[in-house]
Amino acid sequence: MSMIKKVLVANRGEIAVRIIRACREMGIRSVAVHSEADGEALHVKEADEAVLIGPPPSVESYLKVDALIAAARSTGADAIHPGYGFLAENSGFARRVEEEQLTFIGPSSEAIRKMGDKLMARKIAAEADVPLVPGQTLAATDPVEAAAAADALGYPVIVKAAGGGGGKGMRIVRTPAALPDAMQEASREARSSFSDPRVYLEKYFDRPRHVEIQVFADSAGNVVHLFERECSVQRRHQKIIEESPSTALTPELRARMGEAAVKVARAVEYRGAGTVEFLLVPGPRFYFLEMNTRIQVEHPVTEMVTGVDLVALQLEVASGEPLPFTQADLCQSGHSIECRLYAEDPASGFLPSPGRIHYMRAPVGPWVRFDTGVESGSVVPIHYDPILAKLIVWARDRERAIARMDQALKETVILGIKSPITYMRKVLRHRAFVAGDLHTEFLKEHDIDPTEEGDLDLALAAAVLWKARAGGPADSGPSRSELASPWQTLGRWELGGMR
Ligand code: ADP
Repeated sequence: MSMIKKVLVANRGEIAVRIIRACREMGIRSVAVHSEADGEALHVKEADEAVLIGPPPSVESYLKVDALIAAARSTGADAIHPGYGFLAENSGFARRVEEEQLTFIGPSSEAIRKMGDKLMARKIAAEADVPLVPGQTLAATDPVEAAAAADALGYPVIVKAAGGGGGKGMRIVRTPAALPDAMQEASREARSSFSDPRVYLEKYFDRPRHVEIQVFADSAGNVVHLFERECSVQRRHQKIIEESPSTALTPELRARMGEAAVKVARAVEYRGAGTVEFLLVPGPRFYFLEMNTRIQVEHPVTEMVTGVDLVALQLEVASGEPLPFTQADLCQSGHSIECRLYAEDPASGFLPSPGRIHYMRAPVGPWVRFDTGVESGSVVPIHYDPILAKLIVWARDRERAIARMDQALKETVILGIKSPITYMRKVLRHRAFVAGDLHTEFLKEHDIDPTEEGDLDLALAAAVLWKARAGGPADSGPSRSELASPWQTLGRWELGGMR
C-alpha cells in the first residue's frame, strides 16, 4: 500500500461531504460520483472533481460497480471510500476494488464477506469466546426443527435473515402458531432484498439496550476500541438518536464489552473502522448482535468524546500507516449526542418528504456540529435514503448535552420539506430520556406525539423567509422568483400538511 493521493467517494449526501472534508484537510484530492438526480448536490460541489455515473435509481448509479470503477480509472483515483449504505458492505465490490489494484478504504473483502453473513458472524464470535444472542448458528430450514428450537429458546423469538441489514427480513414471533408464516415471510423478504433466503432464530429480548463498540485496526494487527455508543432510541429497529457514553455502562462493563469487540475484530483480521453491536440486558449481560464493517452514521459521537477523527484515521490506516495510539492512550471525555434529521413527516407516520429545501439554517455555537448533505436550495430526491443531516453536540455531562442539543435544534430551520426537528426536541425532553432510562422500545412505549406544535415555528419560519426576501445574505434564502410572498410559500409547504 502506498500513500493515497486521490479518493473516489462512492456515496452521496452527508457522508460523502464528511469524507471529502477529511480528504481536503489531509491534502488528498477527492472525486465525487453522482446520478442524474444529484447534479447540483452538495457533495458534487464540494469535491475537486465529479463524474456522472448514471440515471437516478441507485441500481443504475450508486450501486453500479462498473461505472464506479470506470470513474476511478478516468479520474486517476487510487482509492475508493464507500461511506455507509450502498456498496459499503458488499464484499463483491470490495473484491473488485482489490482486483483493480485500487485501495479500498475499509477492511478486506474477506472480512466483509464473513461479517455480512450473520450466521457466519455468530460462529466467528462464538469461536472467539464472545457471548451471542441465544439462538441458532445454522439456517432454519425444517419447520419441525425450527419449532423445537423456538420452544427451547422460549417465546418470543425473532426470525432473522442471514444476509440481513437495515431491519429487513426480521419478524418477531410471540406464539408457536405464528412461527411458520413468520419464517416464510422473512425468507421471502430476504430473498428479494438480499438474494439470500436463509433465515435463523434468535431469542427476542424484551426492551434490551443496543450498545455498540467502535473498533479500529491497522494493517499491522494492532486493534483498539474507542468505547461505546448507546443507540437504543430507535424507530422500527432503526436508530434515530445516539450518544456516548451510555448511561448503562460502568467502567468495568465498558472494559469487558470493549475487549469482546476487539476479540471479534481480531478473529477476522480486521482493518480500519468497524462496529461491534451488542444487546445489553439486565444482569447486566451483553450479547453479540452483529458487526458492521464500515464507518457508521453515528460515528461523530465517538469523535466528540475521544477527539479522534475516525474518517481521517480510515484514510491513514488505508495508506498503510500504523494506529497513532494504543488502547491506554484513549479516553472518553464529556458527553455527546447525535440526532438524525431525515426528510420525513412525523405527523404522517414518518413518510418520506422529498422536495426542494427553500431555506436551511444550520445551528451554530460552541460544541455544536452539523454534518449535512444539503443546503438552501437543495433538492432531496425520492430515490435514496432520506437522511439530510446529523446534528451532534458535546458538553461536559449528559444534562448539559441535552440542553445544548435542545438549543441547537431550536436554531435549526429547514423549510420546504418536513423534518423531525420538533419531534426530536420532544424526545429529548421526555422524562425517561432525561433519566437515561433507554431501551429499543423506548419510542413505541412512550408514544411521543409526532404532530407539530406549529404556530411559533411557523412565525419564525415566516420571519426568516421575509428577511431572506428583504435582502438577507445572498446564500441564505430561496430565490426571489420562488417567493411570491413568504406567507404564500409557507402556505404551500407548511400549512398544507396541517389540520
Ligand atoms: P439489522 O442488521 O437489520 O439492522 P440487527 O441485528 O442489527 O439488524 O438488529 C437491529 C435492531 O433490531 C436492534 O438494534 C434491536 O433493536 C432489534 N433486535 C435485533 N435482534 C434482537 C433480539 N434478539 N432481541 C431484541 N431485539 C432485537
